[in-house]
Amino acid sequence: MKRLNSFVNGSFVDSGKHFAKFSPVTGEQIAEVDEASKETVDAAVKAARAALRGPWGRMSDQERAGLMRTVANEIERRFDDLVEAEVADTGKSISQARTLDIPRGAANFRAFADIVATTPTESFLTTTADGRKALNYAVRKPAGVVAIIVPWNLPLLLLTWKVAPALACGNTVVVKPSEETPGSATVLAEIMKAAGVPDGVFNLVHGFGPDSAGEFLTRHPGVDAITFTGESATGSAIMKVAADGVKAVSFELGGKNAGIVFADADLDAAVAGSVRSSFTNGGQVCLCTERLYVERPIFDEFATRLAKEAGNLRYGWPTDEATVNMPLISASHREKVLSYYDLARQEGATVLTGGGVPHFGDDRDNGAWVEPTVLTGLSQDARCNREEIFGPVVSLMPFDTEDEAFALANDSDYGLAATVWTRDVGRAHRAGLRLDAGIVWVNTWFLRDLRTPFGGVKASGIGREGGVHSLEFYSELTNVCVELS
Ligand code: NAD
Repeated sequence: MKRLNSFVNGSFVDSGKHFAKFSPVTGEQIAEVDEASKETVDAAVKAARAALRGPWGRMSDQERAGLMRTVANEIERRFDDLVEAEVADTGKSISQARTLDIPRGAANFRAFADIVATTPTESFLTTTADGRKALNYAVRKPAGVVAIIVPWNLPLLLLTWKVAPALACGNTVVVKPSEETPGSATVLAEIMKAAGVPDGVFNLVHGFGPDSAGEFLTRHPGVDAITFTGESATGSAIMKVAADGVKAVSFELGGKNAGIVFADADLDAAVAGSVRSSFTNGGQVCLCTERLYVERPIFDEFATRLAKEAGNLRYGWPTDEATVNMPLISASHREKVLSYYDLARQEGATVLTGGGVPHFGDDRDNGAWVEPTVLTGLSQDARCNREEIFGPVVSLMPFDTEDEAFALANDSDYGLAATVWTRDVGRAHRAGLRLDAGIVWVNTWFLRDLRTPFGGVKASGIGREGGVHSLEFYSELTNVCVELS
């Protein structure tokens, strides 16, 4: 069984207390993980603070960008180890880990190396009322010690989405991965060492949230900024703690994302795209569609086709290339998702496919599997249509007009992503203007350009990451004003 330790100031450390990590595929224990103590978190923050004053703090943007590219190369060298860690911790299919999760880890470092090396700051030549002149220009400086707290659904992808811009901007970091996914973050610590990132720049503390490593980190007075991806309720708890220290926060939070299928859409593309947008990663992507509004004339045909495709998604062991379905992350998350399947029935849903647990006749019956599920007949106000379930489930509802579709999609506490299927180009652009979401996809889903702004509105987040928008959080601008007369 693997022993996974925290990583402080360039060395792996054992805090003396451990917790068990279980396989979502079979329920067996697969790792024993360090539970970072308050002292370990304190040592990590102090190491990060000290490293700001060391060789790291004196590196030029270009040198740091070069080091970030070395990290990306090292991720590719350790590709198989990272795939293995990600598949073991999450139960996701090996083909997804190979084509999405791990390549995006490397791409994040390359993208932010380029962005930091090429992004200018502004300057103004100022003339005052009495005729004097001054030159104003801005310089970017690191924010300092950044606490990075991430969830379990896309562990390396989401972690590096924050570590890469933070380091590229010259910060030092203390990262707290989810207790459910300690594996790939631990390999990333080895990668940092091998790439030559100075000791103390990247620190890793394993553990839980409340009264554990997560809270010790967010409460630590030595942390300058907190970036967090996870549930909206956790974001709210972290924000309260951050308020005491007046610390900057960047939040990527939950979603209850809407899809809209207009009758003019390419139906084949809309069905295939909706299967992806609802069931990728077992429905455990913050961007997944859980509410799908379908124009009435095509509702029945669309619902029948979507349910058939969802019912045919292939089960298997994650190491089988052809496997699509994956288990939920844990037994407790399965309990939560199954409770929503029950609630949906109580709220009057018709279950077109799924709604239960698959049976394998082998060790997977002890895992956290549930069936991909398609529901119809729920009212807009049903709890299953308002609360984030974070599983492989989608609720279909009919609509009659474009205005109604946009209003229904916007009728949510959340506003992360929306997906629209239409051939009408004017309607596509109207959707972008009128939908309350950080991202609106038209005739596609989860297609990302790392230079674009990413984030949510309402309870789905605070701030934007991606491209130069990440620099706004991970660096501080100082304006220098020089009188010229
Ligand atoms: P979570 O909020 O339970 O946990 C996320 C992380 O926060 C974990 O590392 C956890 O240990 C830590 N944590 C929990 N309580 C804490 C506290 N009080 N103080 C400090 N740290 C604490 O989320 P999860 O269940 O791991 O992930 C699923 C959620 O993440 C969903 O809501 C999903 O929508 C959201 N998510 C959002 C995005 C996005 O980009 N908007 C991306 C992925 C996931």
